[in-house]
Amino acid sequence: MLTTRPRGINDILPGEVERWQALEAHIRRLFSLYHYEEIRTPIFEHTELFLRSVGETSDIVEKEMYSFEDKGLRHVTLRPEGTAGVVRAYIENRLFAGPAPQKLFYIGPMFRYDQPQAGRYRQFHQFGCEVLGSDAPVVDAEVITFAVDLFSRLGLQDLKVSLNTVGCPACRPAYEKALVAYFEAHLDDLCDTCKDRLHRNPLRILDCKEEGCTRLAAEAPTTLDYACDHCRDHFSSVRAYLDGVGIPYELDSTLVRGLDYYTQTAFEVIMTQKSGAQNAICGGGRYNKLVYNCGGKDTPGVGFAAGMERLLLILESQGIDIGQEAVPGVYLAPLDQEASQLAFQLAKALRAKDIAVEMDCMGKSLKAQMKTADRLKARYSVLIGENERLGGYATVRQMADGDQTEVPLDKLVIYLEERINHVATEKNA
Ligand code: AMP
Repeated sequence: MLTTRPRGINDILPGEVERWQALEAHIRRLFSLYHYEEIRTPIFEHTELFLRSVGETSDIVEKEMYSFEDKGLRHVTLRPEGTAGVVRAYIENRLFAGPAPQKLFYIGPMFRYDQPQAGRYRQFHQFGCEVLGSDAPVVDAEVITFAVDLFSRLGLQDLKVSLNTVGCPACRPAYEKALVAYFEAHLDDLCDTCKDRLHRNPLRILDCKEEGCTRLAAEAPTTLDYACDHCRDHFSSVRAYLDGVGIPYELDSTLVRGLDYYTQTAFEVIMTQKSGAQNAICGGGRYNKLVYNCGGKDTPGVGFAAGMERLLLILESQGIDIGQEAVPGVYLAPLDQEASQLAFQLAKALRAKDIAVEMDCMGKSLKAQMKTADRLKARYSVLIGENERLGGYATVRQMADGDQTEVPLDKLVIYLEERINHVATEKNA
């Protein structure tokens, strides 16, 4: 127990963490290009917030939350997703008083008591955005365009956007009535869970993965059939914006968000090639009633969330390499105690010139140290043994070809700086 992590959570080790850093940098860069600002909300919130926002009949709330009582007997929950915290922060910090819309993004860990498998963990990471304060279709289109842009720039090609409209409080009741009537006529083909939720939350049946339910869902009445004029116009306008920038999408009438505060646009970005991992990399939509439901003023919103583990798995399966291991410019190889003192001072002087340095601290033999320098892919190693120390110089070895030069100790920093910093810039120029 002591040396094993809980099921479904992962360490991100050196060698792998570089890919995370590169992905995070990519995400931040693109959000900045679209003028979204980062928001960092707490890892845990009052449980009540998730009951209100994610919804009491959702799988997340019914089965997957890490909830506990703190020492003050308050009910708190590790956040299972990012939207709730952002909406709470928007209301609590009166971000609505600022310019509208607020375009916010987040990156961070989420927690769900899910069944662990490839691409599905109990602590996982999502990034996502929320645009609060506008119901304009162009915002829906921007959020979808952003997601596709982000994945395409990473080099992913087989992307598909599934798109639907889920209506609004004005047209949803008639749709739900039609849906219930349809499923009641086919009750025997529904799975037990769906029979149970037929009257509580009929829309959820549309995304059930059981075979009988999937077959029925394909023939069920669609939200678009029942959409009011406003929702219909909104949807056509979102589509026109997407068409205008050439973002391909497919209409999927079974793509729904089965809760009242989701309105109009619903979308997913899917990898069409089987990769072994779960293939939905991102899901989102509009939620015009969520801010109100969480205790704020009626404020429209739209956003998406994407899973980072899943995205990294897909990138790996497609042979897309992001994030290079950090490589030291110089490896310092002192061969005795006095040389170690000298090397320590040199390390400080080189790092002051922004040169990445590693030095031996294990008292290894020369051979072992050269092996380490090779393994680290250092560009230069600097050997300081007794001869060098007494002669006031160091032996500098260029690791690529093994060329060695003796350089006076007082010229060493300049010598390396010219070769590592300046030569690199000249070459790039
Ligand atoms: P959701 O918040 O359920 O709409 O999920 C949005 C995205 O988060 C999904 O498309 C996945 O990429 C990712 N995701 C959701 N649950 C998990 C999980 N348990 N482990 C890893 N990624 C997840």
